[in-house]
Amino acid sequence: MKKIYLDYSATTPLDSDVAEAMRPYMTDVYGNADSVHFFGRAASVAVDEARRTVAEAVNAAHTEIYFTSGGTEANNWAIKGVAFESIGKSAKKRIITSAIEHPSLLDSVEFTRKLGFETVILPVGSDGILAAETLENALDCGAALVSVMTANNETGTIQDIKKLAEIAHSHGALFHTDAVQAVCSERIDVKDSGVDLMSFSAHKIYGPKGIGALYIRKGVRIDKLIGGGHQERSMRGGTTNVAGAVGFAAAMKKAVEERENNNRRVKALRDRFLRKIVSEIPDLSVNGSMERRIPQNLNVTAGGLYDDSVIHLLDRKGVACSSGSACSSGSLDPSHVLIALGLNEAQAKSSVRFSFGKYTTEAEADAAAEIFGECVTSLRKLQKK
Ligand SMILES: *Cc1c(COP(=O)(O)O)cnc(C)c1O
Repeated sequence: MKKIYLDYSATTPLDSDVAEAMRPYMTDVYGNADSVHFFGRAASVAVDEARRTVAEAVNAAHTEIYFTSGGTEANNWAIKGVAFESIGKSAKKRIITSAIEHPSLLDSVEFTRKLGFETVILPVGSDGILAAETLENALDCGAALVSVMTANNETGTIQDIKKLAEIAHSHGALFHTDAVQAVCSERIDVKDSGVDLMSFSAHKIYGPKGIGALYIRKGVRIDKLIGGGHQERSMRGGTTNVAGAVGFAAAMKKAVEERENNNRRVKALRDRFLRKIVSEIPDLSVNGSMERRIPQNLNVTAGGLYDDSVIHLLDRKGVACSSGSACSSGSLDPSHVLIALGLNEAQAKSSVRFSFGKYTTEAEADAAAEIFGECVTSLRKLQKK
């Protein structure tokens, strides 16, 4: 049987138009974008254009977009960059974030404790949403930085970033958001949302792996994370990933153009899948708000299971999906996100994230729903014994 890929939140296939746009920069145009000669200039022109395209897609100035190796580096840079900048200054040494952030964000926040920062991890509701008052209260003691993700990678829930940024600013704190999961389906406008820092990644929007960006609003002071040459306005050393930048820009442009159509299609597929599994599987619950959620995501728990064997059974039957985030799968820890939503360990471990994309067909969604139903039924019989 043909394998069914329902793990678009872990990574997306590379769009063939994006691959075509990248091809010349992996073959003929091989110059170092920093070289002064013709070969370098050809590469540098392409990178410059890519930066403008990415900037335009999110309403930033091109001088505010800094290419990184992906979302992980952008998150590390935003958090550690603010912390490093504070060294030797009288700045407030406190960082506030939420309990459902990506591991790259939480790990970076944890690191700042070595630099003397106090860290605050805010709880979310059972719907996966951070309440404005929760942040408001935590800011009574002030902070250097607040970081709350735009859309969650496990449950797809969307935060009110504009409101949260406003609250952070009213207490003198900077605001960062990890927008990696949101870019595909949500209109991103850095000016309108009022954020200071925003993280992006190309491979979640049908672009290549190994490239992303950090938006740094003009006037925001943050230290560099990776020292070296004068690349990225002397803020991020390392020979520029020319093909990556070109591919990222092509993916970004296409994501914006296709957004409305893809959203309609993907949401219809997901909802159809949900209706099917709900009608076939008793005691099934959806994790996180269904209303404030990116259209590609569905995260469910089938009652009565106690570990992640359902994911492995689905894999054997040709359906690829995730339990928790891909970064923590393989480990036996329950998802920190689902625990934060109030699930117990068994529920968290047995939860499944199905994520749909523009190449998913109705036939695939239907087949996967049926297979999921069979898997749950057979595991429930087994695990009862
Ligand atoms: C995938 C992901 C990242 C990491 O991006 P990489 O480019 O894979 O390093 C960060 N945050 C979220 C929400 C993600 O989904």
